[in-house]
Amino acid sequence: MTTRADMVALDEADPLAHHRTRFHLPDQLIYLDGNSLGAQPVVAKDAVATAVDEWRDLLIGGWMEAGWIDLPASVGAKVAAIIGAAPDHVLVCDTVTTNLYKALSAATALRPERGSILIEEGAFPTDRYITASVAERMDRDVRVVPRGSLVADHVDDSVAVAVLQHLDFRTGELFDMQDTTSAVHAAGALAIWDLSHTAGVIPMNLEEADVDFAVGCTYKYLNGGPGAPAYVYASPRHLTEVNQPLPGWLGHADPFQMTEVYEPDAGMRRFMTGTQQIISMRALDASLGVYEGVDIHLVRAKSQSLTDHFIRLVDERCEGLGLEVISPRDPELRGSQVSLRHNDAAEVFPRIVTAGVRGDFRTPDILRFGFAPLYVSHADVWDAVDSIRSVVEANG
Ligand SMILES: *Cc1c(COP(=O)(O)O)cnc(C)c1O
Repeated sequence: MTTRADMVALDEADPLAHHRTRFHLPDQLIYLDGNSLGAQPVVAKDAVATAVDEWRDLLIGGWMEAGWIDLPASVGAKVAAIIGAAPDHVLVCDTVTTNLYKALSAATALRPERGSILIEEGAFPTDRYITASVAERMDRDVRVVPRGSLVADHVDDSVAVAVLQHLDFRTGELFDMQDTTSAVHAAGALAIWDLSHTAGVIPMNLEEADVDFAVGCTYKYLNGGPGAPAYVYASPRHLTEVNQPLPGWLGHADPFQMTEVYEPDAGMRRFMTGTQQIISMRALDASLGVYEGVDIHLVRAKSQSLTDHFIRLVDERCEGLGLEVISPRDPELRGSQVSLRHNDAAEVFPRIVTAGVRGDFRTPDILRFGFAPLYVSHADVWDAVDSIRSVVEANG
């Protein structure tokens, strides 16, 4: 049987343990929801204060003098380092929803003769809705890959684009970027990846995997804060030929010429719509500094250790309580989350929160726990399972 002392010993040997003090974490709360909203890095508050001071002191001059105008590209370069892209191929802007709309429309237009857009049944709602909308507007149909089957078995020469989840947000199952992208390319289709639930915890290399386009959010494991701007990636192979459907003035080759007719920027700025959220972007910029010098492979190893131990402790200590692990048990097939199914999940969830463990609930019966390796410890895992067990046991 695993003991709390075993978990403390793992923390003492943890090469990432010292990062915990770089975050604000409330006392009396074990935060296992960093997969939905990352904790606040200590540096975030000053970064926001700086932006507010720039606004006060520089007024309109802030765009040039404080470099606000360059933030989508410079913050994009920091995200690029985390997802394995060239620094000038990631732009931070807008939301995942708008970026997916732009990237999917642009990609679909590159395959005019193909009638379908492919998406998986378990995809995140925004991805499903945007795919349906783009398909309708561009006169294509939507091909849904049923849960449990492989994209590779459903992609063929009638598919223009595959909208791909790096992780199933309900179960935490992780999908192979390289293999899936290769299968999509073998059919002559293009691959768009949504990295919202994996950037910052799963090592990835968009260039090596030859991904066509990618989008993702920055407020989950990247700790950018609520509503922090999202990002979009386009492969150098496509960049100069793509046109996106929301050509705003700041995506123009020379915005301040204020010309009649739109002419896209030669680089990633062509994915920009209009004026961006500078105060929020300053918070994100500073928060991404937490990742500088951090070996993402160590993050992945710790994530696997945290989720392995969580599953082991649920097995050892919660037997007979009706909790079923629905995440893959093979750590290579699992992201940084563990989902448990329970018949009374909706009733026990708020009591687990009251007991000091913040996970989340996904309808109808899933309790979801995310493990952000930069600030969650093995002792947290022990204490969380202890609380979950007490609550579920008391539920009878
Ligand atoms: C969190 C998440 C989003 C969020 O989209 P927003 O437009 O930023 O709200 C989109 N897709 C996936 C897969 C997500 O996990």
